[in-house]
Amino acid sequence: MKIYNSLTKKIEEFVPNEEGKVKMYTCGPTVYHFAHIGNLRSYLMEDVLEKLLRYSGYDVKRVMNITDVGHLSSDADTGEDKMLKGAKREHKTVMEIAKFYTDAFFSDCEKLNIKTPDVVEPATNCIPEFIHMIEVLLEKGYAYKAGENVYFDTSKLDDYFVFGNQNEEELMVGVRDDVTEDENKRNKNDFVLWFTKSKFEDQALKWDSPWGTGYPGWHIECSCISMKHLGEYMDIHCGGVDNIFPHHTNEIAQSESYIGHKWCNYWFHVHHLNDETGKMSKSKGEFLTVSLLEEKGYDPLVYRLFTLQSHYRKPLVFTYEALDQAAAVYKKLKNRISSISSEGDVDEAAKKEWHDKFAEVVGNDVNTAMGLTLVYDVLKSDLNGATKRAIIDDYDYVLGLKLTEAKAGTGTDSEHADEDPAVVAHVEEKIAERAAAKKEKNFALADSIRDELLSEGIVIKDTREGVVWSRK
Ligand code: AMP
Ligand code: ZN
Repeated sequence: MKIYNSLTKKIEEFVPNEEGKVKMYTCGPTVYHFAHIGNLRSYLMEDVLEKLLRYSGYDVKRVMNITDVGHLSSDADTGEDKMLKGAKREHKTVMEIAKFYTDAFFSDCEKLNIKTPDVVEPATNCIPEFIHMIEVLLEKGYAYKAGENVYFDTSKLDDYFVFGNQNEEELMVGVRDDVTEDENKRNKNDFVLWFTKSKFEDQALKWDSPWGTGYPGWHIECSCISMKHLGEYMDIHCGGVDNIFPHHTNEIAQSESYIGHKWCNYWFHVHHLNDETGKMSKSKGEFLTVSLLEEKGYDPLVYRLFTLQSHYRKPLVFTYEALDQAAAVYKKLKNRISSISSEGDVDEAAKKEWHDKFAEVVGNDVNTAMGLTLVYDVLKSDLNGATKRAIIDDYDYVLGLKLTEAKAGTGTDSEHADEDPAVVAHVEEKIAERAAAKKEKNFALADSIRDELLSEGIVIKDTREGVVWSRK
């Protein structure tokens, strides 16, 4: 398998630390509001990556945090506390907000067929671990106390900007709101490891620490939670591109200073979903959630398909026109699959061949669009119905589109649901024969098959999505 590594800016052969095993970490949601479909693009692509690794034979352990404390409205430690903002908005406690939006997040994930990671850990579960890591960083001279807070001293590192090449504009992607300089910082990029009450008098959640009552900074949670469950060596760390700076840069700074060696080998970043006005946000315009799409009549899996149609390393613009197109493709594709006859035995050798092809093609930097093309190639092939269905089922483990969920030949949402399954099977067989004839450039035979169907009252049409058929 190959993936693009943001650390080296190259597509690299993926080699885990331990043969056959992958330790994977995902930065989880800040649970102060619903996730928007932009956030969910990141989680969808990370889900595909995890499933692709499993599909390729790896044993994966994936961990995700839930940010329920410490994340301020600017990723650079300034602005309002996000959780407190959510609690005030809804006149609830911070923990009530955290519970509600954590549940909402996993409910959205379920609708999008995103697997829950093996371990999910809220930040508020790990305060002693954070305190320990900060104590070690202070002992080793990588951190300092100032104005009752504890900061990481970025000047202690030879190479703080490990992701390199960041220009000012890129750096600012992660610094979402107005940045007001914190006078306690010795260096511009230093970041907070522990806040004391000096930051917010009305902070809802606070804990005792050697530095006073307070709460952790945002970045420390991912370093601690990942090490708690995955140890000191990690294979892949994921997030959206806005996490590169400052979040992931800071995670690496504190983690490697703490353990004294390289921490994670591959960094996987998903580009943003934008609306037509620019970057998607929770405060601007229509707040695009999975529930909103459902209210408008879209199956959430249509959104999954929409994201799979483009590459994760390209920004994607969301429009309802584009979603409508994805909905049409989804319907046709499912209908076509549900009308495949399940006759014949599964050709296991062919299935293995197509499996390996998918692992190679999609495994080339998570090329999901090529994965979808392969589904059409299977449909167009001259394999028997049972084999086609088995291969598409196999692909769907990664694609997660529930492509074969309707029953063979009699799918409830099939365009041909009213037809006798035997007729459906007969037509599909003829279509496959015609495809095979075309492949061998035997156009006379292909035309005669089409005419034969026509004489039976069946019209077939070649479309970009493949062959479709209907009654005259
Ligand atoms: P948050 O809940 O704000 O911490 O964000 C959760 C995840 O969504 C992070 O991995 C972000 O990098 C990612 N993210 C934020 N905005 C977008 C977007 N417009 N498109 C894709 N991913 C995003
Ligand atoms: Zn993180």
